[in-house]
Amino acid sequence: MADIYIRGGILLTMRGEGLGVIEDGAVAVEGQNIVAVGKTHELDKKYKNSKQLIEAKGKAVLPGFIDVHIHTGHTIIRGEAQDVPEIEWMLKTMAPFSKYIKPEHSIAGGALGVLEGVKSGVTTFGEIGVNEGHVAEKVFIPAGVRANIADTINEIGPNSRPDVNKSYIFDEALGEQKFKAGVEVVDKWDGAGEGRISCIFSPQGADMMSRDLLERVKAEAVKRGKLTHIHVAQGAREAIQIKLRYDTTSIKYLDKIGFLDDKVIAAHCHQTTDDEVAIIAKRGVRYASCPASIALIDGIVPPLALFIQQGGKYAGLGSDQAPGSTGHNMLVGMKCAALLNKVRHRDPTVLPAWEMLRIATIGGANTIGLGDKIGSLEVGKKADMIVFDLKAPHLVPNITRPVRNVAPNIVYYSRGDEVETVIVNGKFVVQDRRCVTLDEDEVMAKAQKASDEITEKAADDFMTVDGYLAKAVKRGLL
Ligand SMILES: [Zn+2]
Repeated sequence: MADIYIRGGILLTMRGEGLGVIEDGAVAVEGQNIVAVGKTHELDKKYKNSKQLIEAKGKAVLPGFIDVHIHTGHTIIRGEAQDVPEIEWMLKTMAPFSKYIKPEHSIAGGALGVLEGVKSGVTTFGEIGVNEGHVAEKVFIPAGVRANIADTINEIGPNSRPDVNKSYIFDEALGEQKFKAGVEVVDKWDGAGEGRISCIFSPQGADMMSRDLLERVKAEAVKRGKLTHIHVAQGAREAIQIKLRYDTTSIKYLDKIGFLDDKVIAAHCHQTTDDEVAIIAKRGVRYASCPASIALIDGIVPPLALFIQQGGKYAGLGSDQAPGSTGHNMLVGMKCAALLNKVRHRDPTVLPAWEMLRIATIGGANTIGLGDKIGSLEVGKKADMIVFDLKAPHLVPNITRPVRNVAPNIVYYSRGDEVETVIVNGKFVVQDRRCVTLDEDEVMAKAQKASDEITEKAADDFMTVDGYLAKAVKRGLL
């Protein structure tokens, strides 16, 4: 007897070097943990009379996806900031809306982002942002998902950036406040939600704070045995600032001050030379790559394949944020990552489907420091897994020899709505493709209301700032 027993599926366990496939396989769950993984005919003897039985014939069973870098709150302004020059993106396109986003709006956006994620198989959210303890309490914990969170720390106040071509004016007192808030999140929320919430530290970026504060945050994290999650080399804005302040590039600066090591999760890293990617790989940095988001915001393909080629040990995939992304659907994210990197290298062998699936699961788990708990279907690990229906016009035929097509069919052809069941920490979050922990209609209605409030207030500012999108609106193009 087990609490949940899934049988007869094609298991992608992620054990070993590849997908660790078990055909006609079964998984048993007791409490929060996986207690058996193997062939159905063997596990049936002990578990066939379990409380919850899931027949998975024609279905794939795999670890839940791990979105290693996400800002769910921004989902509230989905589709309102893309197709613009990178230098405008934050300051002219996001800013008019951001100004009017209240904490309750971010919570509504967070719930929407999580709903979108879980319905497409995401079980862990690597979220950094503002007031994350509140997000954990209002969104991650009630949604039943796993989250690895940190409050972002920076010294950027409302008057810090009058001119993007001049050094930002750091607000030391504000940096101090944010540092304290970051520590408080760790003190208060680490281990909450039956252990589903884990907390780390997040200096927002080398361009947004003094060297002194950056080093203090890292030291605090190291002292507590926590990782540090930071945006690195994230585009022209950061490059200008680092050049002005330190007369070098982000990677060279961070390497010079000894910041880059295996305790750091570096997000993005797309404003880099090949040699700089080699440096982060060599230093053992954990890489959170968000190809779809960065392609849309920056028109650049982040160096995910290159990082791995250079010997980078841990890499995961992130969806980043809905305004400038493909949303929080990791199935779409995997496809974008594979295609973009193949094009970047002009090499179709780069990032094959099986490797993308590993990056989205065990790779992501290792990247955020949870590889010993999640990311693969193994006895003793937490039961975070999904059941994926392979019987759909865009996924048939399903073949197992001479080659198994399950991985390419999931990575290149799926849309996200094939995920039937999602289990996190041994509990159902999605059943029969419906989220059972959140009221889907209510989440969408609240998000719509929040968005209406924001856009109502932001409309005039948006047109006055007269950015790229505002000009397109004036010309009647969209
Ligand atoms: Zn980010």
